Parts: sequence; structure tokens; C-alpha cells
Amino acid sequence: SPNSKPYDASKIVVCVRKRPLSKKEKLKSDPDAIKAVDNTVHVFEPKLKVDLTKYTEVHPFTFDVAFDENAKNQDVYNSCAKPLVQAFFDGSKVTCFAYGQTGAGKTHTMMGTPEEPGLYTLALQDIFQMKQKKEYAHLGVYISFFEIYGSKLFDLLNGKKRVECREDAKQRVRIIGLEERLCEDPDQVAKTIEEGGKCRSTGSTGANADSSRSHAILEIQLKYKDSQSENSNESDPSSVYGKLSFIDLAGSERAADTTHSDRQTRMEGAEINKSLLALKECIRALGQNQYHTPFRGSKLTLVLKDSFISADSRTVMIANVSPAASNCEHTLNTLRYADRVKEL
Ligand code: ADP
Ligand code: MG
Repeated sequence: SPNSKPYDASKIVVCVRKRPLSKKEKLKSDPDAIKAVDNTVHVFEPKLKVDLTKYTEVHPFTFDVAFDENAKNQDVYNSCAKPLVQAFFDGSKVTCFAYGQTGAGKTHTMMGTPEEPGLYTLALQDIFQMKQKKEYAHLGVYISFFEIYGSKLFDLLNGKKRVECREDAKQRVRIIGLEERLCEDPDQVAKTIEEGGKCRSTGSTGANADSSRSHAILEIQLKYKDSQSENSNESDPSSVYGKLSFIDLAGSERAADTTHSDRQTRMEGAEINKSLLALKECIRALGQNQYHTPFRGSKLTLVLKDSFISADSRTVMIANVSPAASNCEHTLNTLRYADRVKEL
């Protein structure tokens, strides 16, 4: 019908990606409990009755797209992220999130491997392709890569240097001292992403620092070249033409660490919980063109403020799930979260 928009033209797109069973899961005979077909996902949850007889509870879900274990990063890119790249060249501020429990495939989707590059690389390849058009010659591609750990920001292109996020007099959010690296070609981009990725997994920020407890944000900006002053990396928000942010979120199960015996772990869990709840509310507000967007609810949503409040913003949420029956509870939590994001 003329009234039904294709999903890739809507402001909020929610998709699910199921990863293959791992070797370890296969060795343990942990069964595959997820079926992803077209835009539906069924979870077959193994349960026990009071008399201990086994039964299966089936949970159906519907999303914009569902990828099964055979989908490649290129497939996910083509259906979910490519439309964002187009909007980015039209001057929009767009975001793509990978959500899910630790081990569900978020980093595989975003960063990928040398054999199978992820969305970061696939998007940037397209971006350099499109930027060859004359009409974009005055724009430069600037890359920032940082991490939100607890409520602190660390620059992954600067050895995890601590950087501060502030709202300026015009209520624009700026990250003071964050490196914005001008990249001229895909090789330079590859080196930059590799550098940031290594920094994420090696350098330590807190006692139990590990990447499952932090959000990693790769920010790609199209900016007017001459407006960037030569000797300072002090960014000027008014010089931004388009912005594309990829967010590899902290493990969603970490949000439940609020009763952990270690105080720091508890505090990190509480912060992750707060940011994932605030994120859901901000995306829902964007989908409903709400006047009030609760972006001050967490550091994550504050940093993404301009991507939530612009009228032409778009968001893609990729909910990554494990197929293993032993992970059913986390998988159901992920799908319920994704369902709430989608629902208008
Ligand atoms: P997360 O970032 O959500 O914690 P990872 O992306 O690190 O999870 O994935 C956990 C493991 O599963 C890694 O070894 C990764 O290579 C593998 N994996 C995840 N998704 C896929 C996939 N779609 N195809 C093949 N291997 C995958
Ligand atoms: Mg990861």
C-alpha cells in the first residue's frame, strides 16, 4: 500500500542477528534454541514442570529484519547500515547500535575480522566511494574512537587518555580534547580502526577493566575541511555536515551486576543499567518525534545528544543473540529490550 514505508526508510530500524553455535557450545551439546526466518525470531526455551518433566516454551518475536547464523557482515551491512550511509551523505546524524549479552557477536558485527570486516570498515569503504563525487570535495572524513567506562570517557586513538564531555553555552555537547583524525583513504581508516581496537582490549582503565563493561563509540564525521583550524583538534560543532556513530554497547547482562560483592563492579553495573534504559527512552522519543528527549539520563545518551534531537536523525539497533539453549534467559532479555525499542 502507498502508506506502508519500507523499513529502511523509517527512523528506527530494529534487527536481530543470531550467531552460529561456537565450538565449545557444540562440544557441550548445548542445543540451538533460536529460529530466525525473514523478520521473525522464535525462542524455544527448555523448561521443567513441577514434576520435572521437560517441555519447551515457544516465544515468538517480530522485527524489521532477522538474520540467521548464515548471515555475513556484508548482509547485515547491506540491509541495515547502508541506508544510514546514504542519510549521512544527505547531512543527517545517524547511529547504529550493537546490543546484546557478552559473547553474542557485537564486536564481530562492528569490528569484524581481517577475513570478514565488520560494519566499521564496510561503511567507510562506501563512504570513500561516495565521497569521490565532486559535490562532496569540500568535505573531509574525520574519525574519533572512544570508550565510555563507568561514566568516564577515554580516547582510544590516544592511549585511553581521559577526555571530558561538556555542554557549551549553546547547549551543544562537546568532548574536549578528543582526537578527530582526518582520514584520506581506506588504508588510513584501517590503521585507525586497528589502533583503536587494540587500545580497547589492552590498556586498562579500572581494576576489572574489560571491554564487556564499556561502550565503544566510533564516530565518523563529514566536516567542512577549511573550517577545521590547522593547529588544534578543538572541534567546532557548526562545521559538521553529517555524522555516523557506531556503538558497540557494554554487555547487556552487566546491567544486572548491581548486587555483585565488589563495589566497583556494582557501580559499573548500575551505570550500564542506567545507560541502556536511557538509550531505550531516547530511541523511543526519536521514533515518536517527542519534544522531550531524556538524553541527560546517562553519559552515553548525553554524548549522542545531537544524534537524538535532530528531526532527520535515524537509528538502527542490531540485537545480537547467542543460539545456545543455555543462554535463553539472556536472549529473551535482549529480544524484549529490542521489542520495546521498536514499539511505537
Ligand atoms: P561480543 O562483542 O558481543 O561480546 P563477540 O563479537 O566477541 O561478542 O563474539 C564472541 C565470539 O563469537 C567471537 O569469537 C566471535 O568471533 C564469534 N562470533 C560472533 N558472531 C559471529 C558470527 N556471526 N559468525 C562467526 N563467528 C561469530
Ligand atoms: Mg565485544
